[in-house]
Amino acid sequence: MLNSLRSIVQEVNAARDLQSALDIIVSRVKKVMKTEVCSAYLLDANKRYLLMATDGLNASAVGQVSLGLDEGLVGYVAVREEPINLEQATAHPKYQYFPETGEERFSSFLGAPIIHHREVLGVLVIQQHEQRRFDEGDEAFLITMSAQLAGVIAHARATGALKNMGQQATEAKFSGVAGAPGVAIGKAVVISQAADLRAVPFRQVDDIAAELTFFQAGLVAARETISDLGEQLKSRLNTQEQALFGAYLAMLDDASLASEVTDRICEGISSAYAWSEVILEHERTFSAMNDPYLRERAADVRDLGQRVLAHLQESADQDRVYPDNTILVGEELTASMLGEVPQDKLVGMVSVQGSSNSHVAILARAMGVPTVMGAVDLPFRQVEARELVVDGYRGVLYTDPSANLRKHYEAICEEERELVKGLEALKDLPCETTDNYRVPLWVNTGLMADVVRSLERGAEGVGLYRTEIPFLLRDRFPSEEEQRAIYREQLVAFAPHTVTMRTLDVGGDKSLPYFPIDEENPFLGWRGIRVTLDHPEIFLAQVRAMLKASEGLNNMRIMLPMITSLSELESAKVLIHRAFHELLEEGYQIELPPIGVMIEVPAAVYQARELARRSDFLSVGSNDLTQYLLAVDRNNPQVADLYQAFHPAVLHALQSIVEAAHSEGSSVSICGELAGDPGAAVLLLAMGYDVLSMNATNLPKVKSAIRGISLVEAKALLEDVMRQPDAESVSRCMESVLNRPSFTRLLGPKT
Ligand code: PEP
Ligand code: MG
Repeated sequence: MLNSLRSIVQEVNAARDLQSALDIIVSRVKKVMKTEVCSAYLLDANKRYLLMATDGLNASAVGQVSLGLDEGLVGYVAVREEPINLEQATAHPKYQYFPETGEERFSSFLGAPIIHHREVLGVLVIQQHEQRRFDEGDEAFLITMSAQLAGVIAHARATGALKNMGQQATEAKFSGVAGAPGVAIGKAVVISQAADLRAVPFRQVDDIAAELTFFQAGLVAARETISDLGEQLKSRLNTQEQALFGAYLAMLDDASLASEVTDRICEGISSAYAWSEVILEHERTFSAMNDPYLRERAADVRDLGQRVLAHLQESADQDRVYPDNTILVGEELTASMLGEVPQDKLVGMVSVQGSSNSHVAILARAMGVPTVMGAVDLPFRQVEARELVVDGYRGVLYTDPSANLRKHYEAICEEERELVKGLEALKDLPCETTDNYRVPLWVNTGLMADVVRSLERGAEGVGLYRTEIPFLLRDRFPSEEEQRAIYREQLVAFAPHTVTMRTLDVGGDKSLPYFPIDEENPFLGWRGIRVTLDHPEIFLAQVRAMLKASEGLNNMRIMLPMITSLSELESAKVLIHRAFHELLEEGYQIELPPIGVMIEVPAAVYQARELARRSDFLSVGSNDLTQYLLAVDRNNPQVADLYQAFHPAVLHALQSIVEAAHSEGSSVSICGELAGDPGAAVLLLAMGYDVLSMNATNLPKVKSAIRGISLVEAKALLEDVMRQPDAESVSRCMESVLNRPSFTRLLGPKT
């Protein structure tokens, strides 16, 4: 059964459009379940379950027969959201007869709802002529099938919406997660991980002759690489492995493989896309074979495919042009991909994977680039060069927007520009409440561009300099001297203000291309301080570079990420002291900087007093703290709704950290994204946080919010909020107080 399930899902995944996906589903399910009818009903725009595909009922009924939300057995399955298994369907009070289906001949009925993200998309039904009760195994299989297919159907439906536009572009909407606020209108540039056969964007070409030549050159280059590799490895390979290289070369010489690709190129399709489609088809054919030896050859086909694709993409990337209003689209955007686009051309971003607290979203917010994350149903390969509207407030995007929609969003862009202009006047005003309580606003940095933006917006210090960002943008670890120069630039730019440098925090969703960490469960794995304590050579080089960079400026603090136990703090301190004394001996005139701890995991919340006693300051990383307290992966769009920054558990943890730090006479800041939310900033100020550190984009909004409220009011609000039982009531409670025009204006235009 498992094999059938897998192969059906694979076939459906490869279907060109929704209709063919459904046709495959009904015919394959009917066959595997040895029944006489399988039909798929999907909810249409008129809120009716429309017969979309059938194998067994009259084909002419497809697209004709439909049932209301609570009509017939199909509606009944959908309403109950569970399978219905009937031996004699006609006897059921909900049974409804449609002569055009020829249905009266079938007695037994088993229907399962197709549910995607809690939404019933349709119903999958099997029927049988003879009166019999489908057994438990049948029921379980149909449920499994529907559950697996729900995502595929949702995806195919979305792709279908887009495909229609090929000839005549019509607007289509895709939902995701709000990544970075703002609105962007521009042209999609699809960027993919190199040599990923499933992520090659669909591109059309005008000059077919040139593309054919380009493809042949790619084949020749790949041939050379493979034969060189075979030669180099000859002495180390056994005969069977050597034969593999021979087989690869033969495949490349195979005229039929090349001609399948050239046929598609002749239809005006780019060589990379044509090649990926042909290879994926061959891979599927091999995977479906019964013979285990042949089935394993699928991996060889894929490997060969990737090698050739790498050549085709490498040359194509060299002459990629970015339009002036580039919207970067990718399956999983990363910080290094961001670095490839000239900053002045990038207006928006869309990522199929990831969520609002993924690091690429944090960078987007810092850069003020409107972003939608987790657009899981977007057929991203098909959007190259299309016009897009990115609504980073609501987390939705539109492809090929209508003139009306465009006008609507252009007006919002204008409104935003006005708001930003209005806030610029706040730059030199202090951040204080109406009753003169002052709280410093600092910034989180990482990119060089952040420095200028931060200073322009009146930042009073750096609460978090993410040192891993320069590491992410390279193809090897930066040397001690390279690091020193980078850190010096930060320290000089902000001097005499304090710069809090965090030691390397990789792992989780931040993987260095040259130091890959491949784990089942990366956010609970080898990350932050755990990596650097295991690699003292990396840690020491970084700390030495930081200390050298601070010479003569003395405006630096060092901060340690992901501390879970006191021993980690102690070990890190030993290394920092060692580097410090070595440098003194080497003649550097440096001072020992304050050493602080990030509170990012629940264990650290419970040991906040001990950590405060043994360090110079605490800083809360609320992005990670929220994910670990609520057990919600910050990177997973599937659970984005559960990532609730205003969850009472989070708020109580935040409050208890301040109390712990202050009881030890220690200062405590917060540098997670929460500090940049105007409403949250008011609560954090009332809790007693000494410094709020945020992205430069949000700083003026937070300042404006704080300047509009008194400490007395903020404390009353906090008191009320801390009594609420859940995140929803916290939000309602906040709204009732913050619903003044001066506040709502800061939360962005209503889109
Ligand atoms: C945090 O976790 O809140 C934090 C500031 O660190 P990062 O987002 O880089 O993990
Ligand atoms: Mg963190």
